[in-house]
Amino acid sequence: MRVLVTGAAGFLGSHLCDRLLAEGHRVVGMDNFLTGNPVNIAHLRKHPSFQFVLHDVANFVEVQGPLDGVLHFASPASPVDYLDYPIQTLKVGSLGTHKALGLSRAKGARFLLASTSEVYGDPLVHPQPESYWGNVNPVGPRGVYDEAKRFAEALTMAYHRYHKLDTRIVRIFNTYGPRMRPKDGRVVSNFIVQAIKGDPLTVYGDGSQTRSFCYVDDLIEGIVRLFERGGSDPTNIGNPHEFTVRQLAELVLRLTSSRSAIVEQPLPTDDPKVRQPDIRHARETLDWEPQVPLEDGLRRTIEYFRGIVV
Ligand code: NAD
Ligand code: UDP
Repeated sequence: MRVLVTGAAGFLGSHLCDRLLAEGHRVVGMDNFLTGNPVNIAHLRKHPSFQFVLHDVANFVEVQGPLDGVLHFASPASPVDYLDYPIQTLKVGSLGTHKALGLSRAKGARFLLASTSEVYGDPLVHPQPESYWGNVNPVGPRGVYDEAKRFAEALTMAYHRYHKLDTRIVRIFNTYGPRMRPKDGRVVSNFIVQAIKGDPLTVYGDGSQTRSFCYVDDLIEGIVRLFERGGSDPTNIGNPHEFTVRQLAELVLRLTSSRSAIVEQPLPTDDPKVRQPDIRHARETLDWEPQVPLEDGLRRTIEYFRGIVV
């Protein structure tokens, strides 16, 4: 196959390019480096099957030659990033998704949207099955991301129903691993970097809110299976083991042997109180199950950050 990955220089996009190339596919990576890092794909620059295009996906996308797949990963993903770039986030989720869908249609390519557990907002149903419609504040600060992704899902389904485009929607739950930016503001990267530096770990609120953390390799495996043999219905991909943020802080301190303190800081507006994927649909349709326990994944991620944080 020859596929386009938007957001290729990001955390997930770069791992996805690696995986697709390892399977023998040809990959066109596209990114504007808004929140990505050229270093994430530096090792691919000379790969004979990899081509990079510097482009903002919110503008008309042109790719020469045939395409069998378009995997749309471009978007700020960390709350800190999408609060810094609210308009770009709305544009890449809406206009960018429209451009990527239009390209897929023109090329007759299968389309996959990287959606998010944030479509469930601050959920009133727990754990979250795909059938839950969510509890999102459209005008709150997180609305720029949540509503852009909800629009992107609606547009993807419209292309599927109206144009008969072959589509996939993956709802990704909190994923972590090597290549997260040390300063991207997400909880796993923040805690590990703080612990390594001996700085206090910043728990927002009292740390009783929960998240379910998926190691990047597990996520990519689920996404590849969904792309290859899944259906058009949205599919949760995440690790259902749920932890409080305070438990995560304590685990990071133990695994890094850090003597950092834990300090509480204000909870961001509309921060979801709980989050855990119901992954029955992925289990049944993709025979997929996460394999990497949090402790193992954190060890690998800590090793990565030790190599880049001085
Ligand atoms: P990231 O910020 O590391 O990567 C996003 C990439 O998209 C960056 O390289 C950025 O430069 C690029 N980008 C942003 N706007 C662009 C534009 N207009 N044109 C071209 N490129 C653009 O984030 P990530 O964690 O790798 O997330 C990738 C995708 O997965 C996003 O769509 C995100 O919403 C989704 N997702 C991620 C998670 C997670 O836990 N990592 C959870 C849910 C959903
Ligand atoms: N969080 C925290 N300290 C930090 C960063 C985040 O306590 O330094 C909390 C945040 O308030 C949220 C959870 O950790 O409850 C996960 O935040 P993240 O930004 O990783 O992703 P989210 O799930 O909110 O999109």
